[in-house]
Amino acid sequence: MSSNKYELPKKFHGTEKNVWVEFSKLAVDHQALNLGQGFPDFQPPQFVLDALKNTVTNGNYQMNQYTRSYGHPRLVQALSKVYSPLMNRTIDPMSEILISVGAYGSLFSSLNGIISPGDEVIIIEPFFDCYDPMVKVAGGQSVFVPIRPTKAGVEGPTSSVDWKIDESELESKFNQKTKAIIINTPNNPLGKVFSREELEMISRLCIKYDVICISDEVYEWLVFGESKHIKIATLPGMWERTLTIGSAGKTFSATGWKLGWTIGPANLLLGAQCMHQNCNYNCPTILQEAVALAFEHELPKIDTPECYFKQLPLEIIPKRDMLISLFNEMGMWPVIPDGGYFLMADISGIDVDLSGENPEEARDVKFVKWMTKNKKLTAIPPSVFYSKEHQSVGENYVRFCFIKEDTTLNKAVDILRKWKQTM
Ligand code: PMP
Ligand code: GLN
Repeated sequence: MSSNKYELPKKFHGTEKNVWVEFSKLAVDHQALNLGQGFPDFQPPQFVLDALKNTVTNGNYQMNQYTRSYGHPRLVQALSKVYSPLMNRTIDPMSEILISVGAYGSLFSSLNGIISPGDEVIIIEPFFDCYDPMVKVAGGQSVFVPIRPTKAGVEGPTSSVDWKIDESELESKFNQKTKAIIINTPNNPLGKVFSREELEMISRLCIKYDVICISDEVYEWLVFGESKHIKIATLPGMWERTLTIGSAGKTFSATGWKLGWTIGPANLLLGAQCMHQNCNYNCPTILQEAVALAFEHELPKIDTPECYFKQLPLEIIPKRDMLISLFNEMGMWPVIPDGGYFLMADISGIDVDLSGENPEEARDVKFVKWMTKNKKLTAIPPSVFYSKEHQSVGENYVRFCFIKEDTTLNKAVDILRKWKQTM
């Protein structure tokens, strides 16, 4: 019997490997210090834990039953209060917000909700790795445009601001088949916060070619110093063509809670709702209520320095700076991030014997595997955030996550200082 019914469907070809699965396991297998996968190794704030505790114990049976498919009423109302001022418009909680299983779920339902077979989707690199498989599974075709390092090879620290998009290169990818563009600001893994000029350039192209924008803003609160997070949906002519994505996991330092939201005009959100109502129906009621309470807790002080969303970036700047000075010492030149909680370090000048690693793999992949096994320190190889054609832009770097306890970061400092002595 010749049949391919039992084989992996073609749409999954090339998506079998997953960096989070592979490198989280690698860290565990080698008992390495894990600065790879992006999650805090400390508790969410007490008011977030209390919100869940109170939801569990409040005696309301409804907290344990199904809730409204598109989003628990209390949560979408809280989100409308948080985001209406940020979007410069009144967000209708019932028709302009969709709650999904993490920002992953928001991306998945949004992409499936707009893509038809044959559509092209422009993805700006480096990109969060799931975008491309999601486009593919939805029947679309990804088209890649890299943010290019204008100071690559410089002996010394550089900044995420030095990474730029070439307007004519980007425009050359727009055509009749282009359905959407996916952007991510603050960017993972680069820490680049897109400037107003960059967002205006992207929005000009979206309007000129009539293209939808998916704006992944899960690190929206994590911006440092003078940098400002700007929502592309607030630029002229963009609300009607933008789906903006956020994450409770990133907002409240609780990545395991897996609640995300998509905000956009009702007509553009319709496809995502169709996907969600038939695929998940609703996200866990108890978590949605707790996230609603957490937002309600912060809402009265949202414009003050006491708000958790303003406190968290201040808390992690010294952690970022600790890694910056360490990597400067090492000659592993850091790309200083203006947002997010990752730091890229240039490994091109670090000479290690990678001959024991798989020669088929990119240098950064081999480097991280070698470092995990030999130095008991894990990171993420950024070439996984690039298409094959632009992999060489990423493979000179390694990504480290710095939203960690100081004790954890101190252990990394010890490992790297000892390593330096042997260089
Ligand atoms: N987008 C980006 C850029 C991310 O880094 C992540 C990982 N948190 C996600 C989306 C997915 O977020 P969530 O954990 O809420 O599914
Ligand atoms: N967003 C997180 C990161 O970039 C991890 C996502 C995941 O583990 N799937 O590290």
